[in-house]
Amino acid sequence: MNEHVKCLIIGSGPAGYTAAIYAGRANLSPVLYEGMQPGGQLTQTTEVENFPGYPDGIDANMMMSDFRAQAERFGADIRFGVVTSVDFSGHPHQVVIDESTTIEADTVIIATGASAKYLGLPDEQKFAGKGVSACATCDGFFYRKKRVAVVGGGDTACEEATYLAGLCEKVYLIVRKPFLRASKIMQERVLNTPNIEVLFEHNTLGLIGNDGVEGARLVKRKGEPDEEIVEIKIDGFFLAIGHHPNSELFSRYVTTDEAGYIKTFPAETPCTNIPGVFAAGDVADPRYRQAVVAAGSGCKAAMEAERFIAEHK
Ligand code: NDP
Repeated sequence: MNEHVKCLIIGSGPAGYTAAIYAGRANLSPVLYEGMQPGGQLTQTTEVENFPGYPDGIDANMMMSDFRAQAERFGADIRFGVVTSVDFSGHPHQVVIDESTTIEADTVIIATGASAKYLGLPDEQKFAGKGVSACATCDGFFYRKKRVAVVGGGDTACEEATYLAGLCEKVYLIVRKPFLRASKIMQERVLNTPNIEVLFEHNTLGLIGNDGVEGARLVKRKGEPDEEIVEIKIDGFFLAIGHHPNSELFSRYVTTDEAGYIKTFPAETPCTNIPGVFAAGDVADPRYRQAVVAAGSGCKAAMEAERFIAEHK
Protein backbone atom coordinates (compact mmCIF):
# COMPACT_ATOMS: atom_id res chain seq x y z
CA MET A 1 0.00 0.00 0.00
CA ASN A 2 1.21 3.49 -0.80
CA GLU A 3 2.09 5.84 2.03
CA HIS A 4 -0.49 8.57 2.56
CA VAL A 5 0.51 11.99 3.90
CA LYS A 6 -1.44 15.15 4.59
CA CYS A 7 1.24 17.54 3.42
CA LEU A 8 4.19 16.73 1.18
CA ILE A 9 6.83 19.42 0.73
CA ILE A 10 9.28 19.22 -2.14
CA GLY A 11 12.49 21.20 -1.62
CA SER A 12 14.66 22.23 1.30
CA GLY A 13 15.46 25.91 0.86
CA PRO A 14 13.97 28.70 3.00
CA ALA A 15 10.53 28.19 1.37
CA GLY A 16 10.39 24.42 1.95
CA TYR A 17 11.65 24.53 5.54
CA THR A 18 9.38 27.44 6.49
CA ALA A 19 6.42 25.55 5.04
CA ALA A 20 7.51 22.56 7.14
CA ILE A 21 7.68 24.67 10.33
CA TYR A 22 4.17 26.03 9.79
CA ALA A 23 2.68 22.73 8.61
CA GLY A 24 4.28 20.95 11.59
CA ARG A 25 2.81 23.45 14.03
CA ALA A 26 -0.57 22.98 12.34
CA ASN A 27 -0.43 19.22 13.02
CA LEU A 28 -0.21 18.31 9.35
CA SER A 29 2.75 15.95 10.03
CA PRO A 30 4.57 17.22 6.96
CA VAL A 31 6.98 15.06 5.01
CA LEU A 32 9.72 17.03 3.26
CA TYR A 33 11.97 15.68 0.51
CA GLU A 34 15.23 17.55 0.39
CA GLY A 35 16.04 17.08 -3.29
CA MET A 36 19.44 17.14 -4.95
CA GLN A 37 20.76 20.16 -3.07
CA PRO A 38 19.80 19.84 0.60
CA GLY A 39 19.50 23.34 2.01
CA GLY A 40 18.93 24.84 -1.44
CA GLN A 41 20.76 27.60 -3.27
CA LEU A 42 21.90 29.33 -0.09
CA THR A 43 24.27 26.49 0.69
CA GLN A 44 26.33 27.81 -2.25
CA THR A 45 26.83 31.11 -0.50
CA THR A 46 29.13 32.03 2.35
CA GLU A 47 27.50 34.57 4.61
CA VAL A 48 23.93 35.88 4.69
CA GLU A 49 23.75 39.47 5.86
CA ASN A 50 20.23 40.43 4.93
CA PHE A 51 18.08 37.85 6.67
CA PRO A 52 16.32 39.65 9.53
CA GLY A 53 17.19 38.45 13.00
CA TYR A 54 20.94 38.09 12.43
CA PRO A 55 22.41 41.56 13.07
CA ASP A 56 25.95 40.29 12.55
CA GLY A 57 25.15 38.08 9.56
CA ILE A 58 25.20 34.30 9.62
CA ASP A 59 26.97 31.49 7.80
CA ALA A 60 24.50 30.33 5.10
CA ASN A 61 24.93 26.62 5.84
CA MET A 62 24.42 27.28 9.54
CA MET A 63 21.26 29.22 8.78
CA MET A 64 19.88 26.37 6.70
CA SER A 65 20.67 23.81 9.38
CA ASP A 66 18.82 26.06 11.86
CA PHE A 67 15.83 26.13 9.51
CA ARG A 68 15.96 22.35 9.38
CA ALA A 69 16.26 21.92 13.15
CA GLN A 70 13.30 24.24 13.67
CA ALA A 71 11.18 22.21 11.23
CA GLU A 72 12.18 18.97 12.94
CA ARG A 73 11.28 20.42 16.32
CA PHE A 74 7.68 20.65 15.13
CA GLY A 75 7.60 17.11 13.82
CA ALA A 76 8.55 17.53 10.15
CA ASP A 77 9.76 14.25 8.68
CA ILE A 78 12.74 15.35 6.57
CA ARG A 79 13.93 12.76 4.11
CA PHE A 80 16.75 12.46 1.64
CA GLY A 81 15.29 11.77 -1.79
CA VAL A 82 14.41 13.29 -5.13
CA VAL A 83 10.95 13.53 -6.64
CA THR A 84 11.13 11.88 -10.05
CA SER A 85 7.52 12.22 -11.25
CA VAL A 86 4.10 13.43 -10.15
CA ASP A 87 0.50 12.84 -11.11
CA PHE A 88 -1.78 15.70 -10.18
CA SER A 89 -4.69 14.51 -12.35
CA GLY A 90 -6.76 13.17 -9.46
CA HIS A 91 -6.88 13.40 -5.70
CA PRO A 92 -4.98 12.57 -3.54
CA HIS A 93 -1.97 13.65 -5.56
CA GLN A 94 0.64 11.03 -6.44
CA VAL A 95 4.32 11.79 -6.02
CA VAL A 96 7.04 9.31 -6.93
CA ILE A 97 10.33 9.43 -5.03
CA ASP A 98 13.56 8.15 -6.60
CA GLU A 99 11.55 6.34 -9.29
CA SER A 100 10.47 3.75 -6.73
CA THR A 101 8.24 4.90 -3.87
CA THR A 102 4.83 6.45 -4.53
CA ILE A 103 3.37 8.77 -1.93
CA GLU A 104 -0.25 9.92 -1.89
CA ALA A 105 -0.59 13.46 -0.62
CA ASP A 106 -3.64 15.54 0.26
CA THR A 107 -1.59 18.65 -0.35
CA VAL A 108 1.71 19.25 -2.11
CA ILE A 109 3.95 22.28 -1.64
CA ILE A 110 6.39 22.78 -4.50
CA ALA A 111 9.48 24.62 -3.23
CA THR A 112 12.07 23.40 -5.72
CA GLY A 113 13.74 26.76 -6.27
CA ALA A 114 15.68 27.92 -9.29
CA SER A 115 19.08 27.09 -10.80
CA ALA A 116 21.68 29.30 -12.40
CA LYS A 117 21.75 29.43 -16.19
CA TYR A 118 24.85 28.63 -18.23
CA LEU A 119 25.74 29.75 -21.75
CA GLY A 120 25.80 26.17 -23.03
CA LEU A 121 29.44 26.16 -24.09
CA PRO A 122 31.24 22.79 -23.85
CA ASP A 123 34.08 24.61 -22.04
CA GLU A 124 31.75 25.41 -19.13
CA GLN A 125 31.60 21.69 -18.38
CA LYS A 126 35.25 21.11 -19.17
CA PHE A 127 36.26 23.70 -16.57
CA ALA A 128 33.48 23.10 -14.04
CA GLY A 129 35.08 23.50 -10.62
CA LYS A 130 38.32 24.52 -12.34
CA GLY A 131 37.61 28.17 -13.00
CA VAL A 132 33.94 28.23 -14.04
CA SER A 133 31.38 29.20 -11.42
CA ALA A 134 27.85 30.57 -11.24
CA CYS A 135 28.25 31.99 -7.75
CA ALA A 136 30.75 34.75 -7.03
CA THR A 137 29.97 34.84 -3.33
CA CYS A 138 30.68 31.10 -3.05
CA ASP A 139 33.86 30.93 -5.10
CA GLY A 140 35.20 34.48 -5.31
CA PHE A 141 37.57 33.86 -2.44
CA PHE A 142 39.62 31.46 -4.60
CA TYR A 143 40.42 34.28 -7.02
CA ARG A 144 41.91 36.79 -4.61
CA LYS A 145 44.35 39.08 -6.43
CA LYS A 146 43.60 37.27 -9.70
CA ARG A 147 41.78 38.22 -12.90
CA VAL A 148 38.21 37.14 -13.53
CA ALA A 149 35.31 37.75 -15.89
CA VAL A 150 31.60 37.95 -15.11
CA VAL A 151 29.04 37.37 -17.89
CA GLY A 152 25.75 39.28 -17.82
CA GLY A 153 24.39 42.79 -17.69
CA GLY A 154 21.66 42.50 -15.03
CA ASP A 155 21.64 43.25 -11.31
CA THR A 156 23.16 39.89 -10.44
CA ALA A 157 26.09 40.39 -12.82
CA CYS A 158 26.73 43.92 -11.52
CA GLU A 159 26.47 42.79 -7.91
CA GLU A 160 28.86 39.89 -8.50
CA ALA A 161 31.31 42.06 -10.47
CA THR A 162 31.37 44.62 -7.66
CA TYR A 163 31.83 41.91 -5.05
CA LEU A 164 34.67 40.33 -7.03
CA ALA A 165 36.30 43.73 -7.60
CA GLY A 166 36.87 43.88 -3.85
CA LEU A 167 38.87 40.65 -4.00
CA CYS A 168 40.41 40.45 -7.43
CA GLU A 169 43.04 42.42 -9.28
CA LYS A 170 40.81 42.89 -12.32
CA VAL A 171 37.22 42.09 -13.28
CA TYR A 172 35.88 42.06 -16.84
CA LEU A 173 32.12 42.34 -17.21
CA ILE A 174 31.11 40.70 -20.49
CA VAL A 175 27.84 42.24 -21.71
CA ARG A 176 26.23 41.19 -24.97
CA LYS A 177 24.28 44.42 -25.49
CA PRO A 178 25.65 47.98 -25.75
CA PHE A 179 24.08 48.77 -22.36
CA LEU A 180 23.53 47.29 -18.91
CA ARG A 181 20.09 46.07 -17.95
CA ALA A 182 20.82 46.48 -14.22
CA SER A 183 19.26 49.15 -12.01
CA LYS A 184 20.80 52.62 -12.18
CA ILE A 185 22.50 52.35 -8.79
CA MET A 186 24.15 49.03 -9.68
CA GLN A 187 25.27 50.39 -13.05
CA GLU A 188 26.85 53.39 -11.36
CA ARG A 189 28.62 51.19 -8.86
CA VAL A 190 30.12 49.10 -11.65
CA LEU A 191 31.10 52.05 -13.82
CA ASN A 192 32.72 53.81 -10.84
CA THR A 193 34.82 50.84 -9.77
CA PRO A 194 38.28 51.32 -11.29
CA ASN A 195 39.23 47.64 -11.57
CA ILE A 196 36.03 46.65 -13.43
CA GLU A 197 36.22 46.89 -17.21
CA VAL A 198 32.89 46.56 -18.99
CA LEU A 199 33.16 44.86 -22.38
CA PHE A 200 29.95 45.93 -24.11
CA GLU A 201 28.75 44.02 -27.19
CA HIS A 202 30.96 41.02 -26.43
CA ASN A 203 29.95 37.35 -26.51
CA THR A 204 31.98 34.42 -25.24
CA LEU A 205 33.14 31.87 -27.80
CA GLY A 206 35.13 29.62 -25.50
CA LEU A 207 37.63 29.32 -22.70
CA ILE A 208 41.35 28.80 -22.92
CA GLY A 209 43.44 26.66 -20.58
CA ASN A 210 44.67 23.19 -19.73
CA ASP A 211 44.05 22.24 -16.10
CA GLY A 212 42.16 25.43 -15.33
CA VAL A 213 40.87 28.57 -16.98
CA GLU A 214 43.66 30.79 -18.30
CA GLY A 215 41.69 32.99 -20.65
CA ALA A 216 38.55 33.52 -22.71
CA ARG A 217 37.96 34.03 -26.42
CA LEU A 218 35.33 36.63 -27.12
CA VAL A 219 33.75 38.07 -30.20
CA LYS A 220 33.07 41.80 -30.27
CA ARG A 221 30.14 43.17 -32.31
CA LYS A 222 29.32 39.77 -33.76
CA GLY A 223 27.90 39.91 -37.28
CA GLU A 224 28.84 43.59 -37.79
CA PRO A 225 31.38 44.76 -40.41
CA ASP A 226 33.84 45.58 -37.61
CA GLU A 227 33.44 42.20 -35.85
CA GLU A 228 36.57 41.35 -33.93
CA ILE A 229 37.93 38.40 -31.96
CA VAL A 230 39.26 39.40 -28.54
CA GLU A 231 41.19 37.30 -26.04
CA ILE A 232 41.36 38.14 -22.35
CA LYS A 233 43.60 36.62 -19.69
CA ILE A 234 41.53 35.40 -16.76
CA ASP A 235 41.69 32.78 -14.01
CA GLY A 236 37.97 32.63 -13.25
CA PHE A 237 34.82 32.80 -15.38
CA PHE A 238 31.57 33.62 -13.56
CA LEU A 239 28.12 33.23 -15.07
CA ALA A 240 25.45 35.72 -13.95
CA ILE A 241 22.92 35.48 -16.77
CA GLY A 242 19.86 34.64 -14.72
CA HIS A 243 18.20 31.57 -13.32
CA HIS A 244 15.67 29.05 -14.48
CA PRO A 245 12.94 27.75 -12.21
CA ASN A 246 12.97 24.04 -11.35
CA SER A 247 9.41 23.43 -12.49
CA GLU A 248 9.82 20.96 -15.38
CA LEU A 249 8.57 18.03 -13.32
CA PHE A 250 5.26 19.75 -12.65
CA SER A 251 4.65 21.72 -15.85
CA ARG A 252 2.37 19.07 -17.32
CA TYR A 253 -0.12 19.94 -14.61
CA VAL A 254 0.61 23.35 -13.13
CA THR A 255 0.44 26.50 -15.20
CA THR A 256 3.76 28.29 -15.71
CA ASP A 257 4.74 31.51 -17.45
CA GLU A 258 6.88 31.47 -20.59
CA ALA A 259 10.08 31.32 -18.52
CA GLY A 260 8.78 28.34 -16.53
CA TYR A 261 7.91 30.11 -13.27
CA ILE A 262 4.82 28.55 -11.66
CA LYS A 263 1.85 30.88 -11.84
CA THR A 264 -0.31 31.38 -8.78
CA PHE A 265 -3.92 32.52 -8.59
CA PRO A 266 -4.46 35.15 -7.23
CA ALA A 267 -0.85 36.13 -7.83
CA GLU A 268 -0.12 37.10 -4.21
CA THR A 269 -1.14 33.63 -2.95
CA PRO A 270 0.77 30.33 -3.34
CA CYS A 271 -2.28 28.61 -4.94
CA THR A 272 -1.65 26.99 -8.33
CA ASN A 273 -4.32 26.01 -10.84
CA ILE A 274 -4.44 22.54 -9.22
CA PRO A 275 -6.46 22.37 -5.99
CA GLY A 276 -4.25 21.25 -3.12
CA VAL A 277 -0.98 22.04 -4.95
CA PHE A 278 0.87 25.14 -3.82
CA ALA A 279 4.09 26.80 -4.99
CA ALA A 280 6.51 28.69 -2.76
CA GLY A 281 9.89 30.36 -3.17
CA ASP A 282 11.96 31.01 -6.28
CA VAL A 283 10.14 28.40 -8.43
CA ALA A 284 7.23 30.85 -8.48
CA ASP A 285 9.11 34.12 -8.07
CA PRO A 286 10.82 35.64 -11.11
CA ARG A 287 11.09 39.01 -9.39
CA TYR A 288 12.50 39.00 -5.87
CA ARG A 289 14.40 35.72 -5.39
CA GLN A 290 15.32 36.51 -1.80
CA ALA A 291 15.52 34.06 1.11
CA VAL A 292 13.24 36.15 3.28
CA VAL A 293 10.62 36.38 0.53
CA ALA A 294 10.87 32.63 -0.08
CA ALA A 295 10.42 31.97 3.64
CA GLY A 296 7.32 34.17 3.67
CA SER A 297 5.81 32.33 0.73
CA GLY A 298 6.53 28.98 2.43
CA CYS A 299 4.51 30.21 5.40
CA LYS A 300 1.63 31.17 3.09
CA ALA A 301 1.74 27.78 1.35
CA ALA A 302 1.50 25.87 4.65
CA MET A 303 -1.42 28.05 5.77
CA GLU A 304 -3.21 27.38 2.48
CA ALA A 305 -2.50 23.64 2.81
CA GLU A 306 -4.00 23.67 6.30
CA ARG A 307 -7.07 25.52 5.01
CA PHE A 308 -7.44 23.14 2.07
CA ILE A 309 -7.34 20.09 4.34
CA ALA A 310 -9.84 21.61 6.77
CA GLU A 311 -12.23 22.40 3.91
CA HIS A 312 -11.96 18.93 2.34
CA LYS A 313 -12.29 16.79 5.45
P1 NDP B 1 18.37 39.31 -15.53
O1 NDP B 1 17.46 38.43 -16.31
O2 NDP B 1 17.88 40.62 -15.03
O3 NDP B 1 19.68 39.62 -16.38
C1 NDP B 1 20.34 38.62 -17.08
C2 NDP B 1 21.50 39.26 -17.82
O4 NDP B 1 22.21 38.21 -18.45
C3 NDP B 1 21.05 40.23 -18.89
O5 NDP B 1 21.95 41.30 -18.99
C4 NDP B 1 21.11 39.37 -20.15
O6 NDP B 1 21.40 40.08 -21.31
C5 NDP B 1 22.28 38.47 -19.83
N1 NDP B 1 22.20 37.22 -20.58
C6 NDP B 1 21.19 36.32 -20.59
N2 NDP B 1 21.49 35.26 -21.38
C7 NDP B 1 22.71 35.54 -21.89
C8 NDP B 1 23.55 34.88 -22.81
N3 NDP B 1 23.21 33.70 -23.32
N4 NDP B 1 24.74 35.44 -23.12
C9 NDP B 1 25.10 36.62 -22.59
N5 NDP B 1 24.35 37.31 -21.73
C10 NDP B 1 23.16 36.78 -21.39
O7 NDP B 1 18.88 38.34 -14.34
P2 NDP B 1 19.52 38.74 -12.94
O8 NDP B 1 19.87 37.44 -12.33
O9 NDP B 1 20.56 39.75 -13.08
O10 NDP B 1 18.30 39.36 -12.12
C11 NDP B 1 17.07 38.65 -11.94
C12 NDP B 1 16.13 39.52 -11.10
O11 NDP B 1 16.64 39.65 -9.77
C13 NDP B 1 16.00 40.94 -11.65
O12 NDP B 1 14.67 41.37 -11.47
C14 NDP B 1 16.95 41.72 -10.79
O13 NDP B 1 16.59 43.09 -10.71
C15 NDP B 1 16.81 41.02 -9.44
N6 NDP B 1 18.03 41.19 -8.64
C16 NDP B 1 18.07 42.22 -7.75
C17 NDP B 1 19.18 42.45 -6.99
C18 NDP B 1 19.19 43.59 -6.04
O14 NDP B 1 18.26 44.37 -6.08
N7 NDP B 1 20.17 43.70 -5.20
C19 NDP B 1 20.38 41.59 -7.09
C20 NDP B 1 20.25 40.55 -8.06
C21 NDP B 1 19.11 40.38 -8.81
P3 NDP B 1 20.32 41.04 -22.04
O15 NDP B 1 20.21 42.26 -21.21
O16 NDP B 1 20.95 41.23 -23.36
O17 NDP B 1 19.05 40.23 -22.11
